[in-house]
Amino acid sequence: MELTSFLLKKKVDWSVLQEGVTIPVSLQQFLTDGIARKMPRGSAFDMKLMLDGATYDVSLKNIKFDKEKYPAHKDLVQLRWNRSSPLALHLQQKFCSSFSLIRAQKASVPSHTPVRLDDSQLEYLVLYLTANPNVIAAECITNADCAAAKDSILRLEEIDIEQLLGREDMGSIGVSSQLAKYRKLDRTFGEELKKVYGYRCQICGLPIGTEYGARVSNTHHIEYFSRTLDNSPGNLLIVCPNHHSIIHATDPVFEKKTASFKYPNGYEETLKLNVHLIA
Ligand SMILES: [Zn+2]
Ligand SMILES: [Zn+2]
Repeated sequence: MELTSFLLKKKVDWSVLQEGVTIPVSLQQFLTDGIARKMPRGSAFDMKLMLDGATYDVSLKNIKFDKEKYPAHKDLVQLRWNRSSPLALHLQQKFCSSFSLIRAQKASVPSHTPVRLDDSQLEYLVLYLTANPNVIAAECITNADCAAAKDSILRLEEIDIEQLLGREDMGSIGVSSQLAKYRKLDRTFGEELKKVYGYRCQICGLPIGTEYGARVSNTHHIEYFSRTLDNSPGNLLIVCPNHHSIIHATDPVFEKKTASFKYPNGYEETLKLNVHLIA
C-alpha cells in the first residue's frame, strides 16, 4: 500500500511501549479529515496499524471526560493498543533499547518522576495516513537505525547531507539506504515548510529563482543533522542557496529566543520571516 501522508513522529516513551499514542490537538483535524470521519467525544473506531509487514488491531478513541469538571479541556484523541497485545510486544522488541532504559529508570526512581533519555538514546515511532481510511502505517526509527544513519554520513559535509536528504533518488545515486527513513521525513517536513514560506528565504525574505520559473530554496538544519539526526520542523529553516552557503561557510550561532544569527565576525541578523520557530 502506498503511504499517503506523514502524520506524526513520536519519541518513544513508556506509553508507546505499553498502550498507545496521543494525537496532538494541532493534528486532530488533519487526522479526522484523513480518515474521513467525525470523532465526537466518547467515540472509538477499530483500525489497523501496519508495521514491519504485519497488521495489528488498534483503536482510535476520542476520550470521554466530564465536561463540567473540565470545561476548557481540549479533545484527547488517542491511538490505543493493549499492554499485552502482539503490537505492544513487537514495539517492546523493536525498541528494546528504550524499553530497557525506561524500565530501569522507572524501577530506580519514585513513581511519577518523568523518565529522561539522552538525545542519543531517543527512538521514534512514525505514523502515516494511508489511502485506506481504516489503516494507519507505522515505521520504527530505532537506535540501531540512528547509529547506522550516523555511520553512513560520517565523511560527508553537512550541506551535502542536507542535499541528499532533499533528494528523492538517493538510493539510485549510490548512497547507503540507512538514511532512507530520515530522508522521507525530511522531504515531507522541508517541502511543507517551503510552501508555508512561499519558497522565500527566512533570512533575506526573497523568493530566489521565481522570475526564472525556478524554486531553489534549501532546507537547513539549525542543529546540524550530522550531529543530532533531528529533522523535526523545529530544527529546520528555509533559506536561499546564497544564505545556505554563507551559513555553512561561517558556522554562525542561531539563537531561537531572538530568531537571529550571530556570525563569527560580530555581524548579527534577525530572521525576516519566521512563523514556525517558537522559542
Ligand atoms: Zn536568503
Ligand atoms: Zn544547512
